Amino acid sequence: GQARLLVVGGGFGGASAARFARTLAPEVAVTLVEPQPRFITCPYGNLVLGGLREMPAITHGYEGLVARGVRVVQDRAVGIDPVARRVRLGGGETLAYDRMILSPGIALRWNAIEGYDEAAAAAMPHAWIAGDGAQLRLLRRQLQAMPDGGVVALAIPPNPYRCPPGPYERISMIAHYLKRHKPRAKILALDAKERFSKQPLFQDAWRALYGAMVEWVPANVDGRVMRVEPRAGVLETELGTRHRADVANVIPPQSAAAIAIEAGLADATGWVPVDYRSFEAKAAPGIHVIGDANQAGAMPKSGFLANSTAKQAVASAVAALRGAPPPEPVYFNTCYSHAGEGYGISVVNIFRPNADGSAVAEVPASGGTSPRGDLPEQRRLEALYADGWYESITADMFS
Ligand code: FAD
Repeated sequence: GQARLLVVGGGFGGASAARFARTLAPEVAVTLVEPQPRFITCPYGNLVLGGLREMPAITHGYEGLVARGVRVVQDRAVGIDPVARRVRLGGGETLAYDRMILSPGIALRWNAIEGYDEAAAAAMPHAWIAGDGAQLRLLRRQLQAMPDGGVVALAIPPNPYRCPPGPYERISMIAHYLKRHKPRAKILALDAKERFSKQPLFQDAWRALYGAMVEWVPANVDGRVMRVEPRAGVLETELGTRHRADVANVIPPQSAAAIAIEAGLADATGWVPVDYRSFEAKAAPGIHVIGDANQAGAMPKSGFLANSTAKQAVASAVAALRGAPPPEPVYFNTCYSHAGEGYGISVVNIFRPNADGSAVAEVPASGGTSPRGDLPEQRRLEALYADGWYESITADMFS
């Protein structure tokens, strides 16, 4: 009968994969399983905090995929049998597949920071998994309710985590909001790392746009948050310093989403080892794990790469179904960040796996970051390029 491609997770990796499969291989039946009726993107969520976007602008429906012939099942995968090639759904249905694309995103490691569990996220939002948007709305409401002169604290995790520049774009967008509405407020960014993505560019922007509002505290200056007291609004660091915050955004350490771990695909790191040529899980050939859930090696966990690797995974799966040779692997990434209104910065890389797919590396001299310096026109243009990127990637997922 007809070959069956099952896509689990309808976000950056999964929606891109389902759409691409329909154009690449019209003979293959594509089913997409996703529990949310609509997808809210994490990208541009920081702009909602900054007051530069509203929630509807980052919310997308699955009608475009349905129109392309994807069967969209609004349910959650609760069990995977990689040997029988079957997936059990929360609603009771069982789906058989010939090849699976699994892109379920991340889980938060509750209690990795002492006191930071699911209940604590109702007082100290993470806003790092979009879900139904409640976490982002909560963080925005808290910023709006905070008094001028208040302190916004962020706890920023060690590597690897979803979106390396994301916390720093968030700092920037919160600062943008505060500068307009609560100019005496302060941002205390407590970091478990000592350096970060596009650091000089972000720090130049913070100095230029927000003056003394942003204080970034690296791990070697006691930035690592070890414990929180959600009700008291306290974040406690490695050396026992207790910071009281009016608003606390805790971005905890992460792992692959629960379904990938429960299916036995992840190793002790909490991420899924894959063959970097096809993204098939080492533990289960036939299941291509893309997006943030895999062990990405040199590649950042970005929506851009989830989309780029989705195409390689689908092309590999289709080649296997057709008995054709595998496609040549090359992966692209651009991460734009908004450091202010009309102030964009970016980093670009190209990656390739080695011959046996056991490692992936950046192609030498294939990319770079925006230039430093007082370059208002460059920043203005890059903010526009970022908007264009958002339009085109969401069209490449949902239209
Ligand atoms: P997701 O996009 O999260 O999709 C996973 C989907 O799987 C979800 O819809 C979820 O509901 C579903 N799912 C989970 N479990 C199951 C299950 N058991 N059964 C069925 N479905 C399931 N990246 C960029 O490239 N550019 C940016 O500017 C950028 N900005 C960001 C800003 C922030 C604040 C954050 C947090 C992230 C940002 N990212 C950005 C990163 C980007 O959001 C992720 O890298 C991307 O979402 C990863 O795609 P994914 O498919 O792995 O996961």
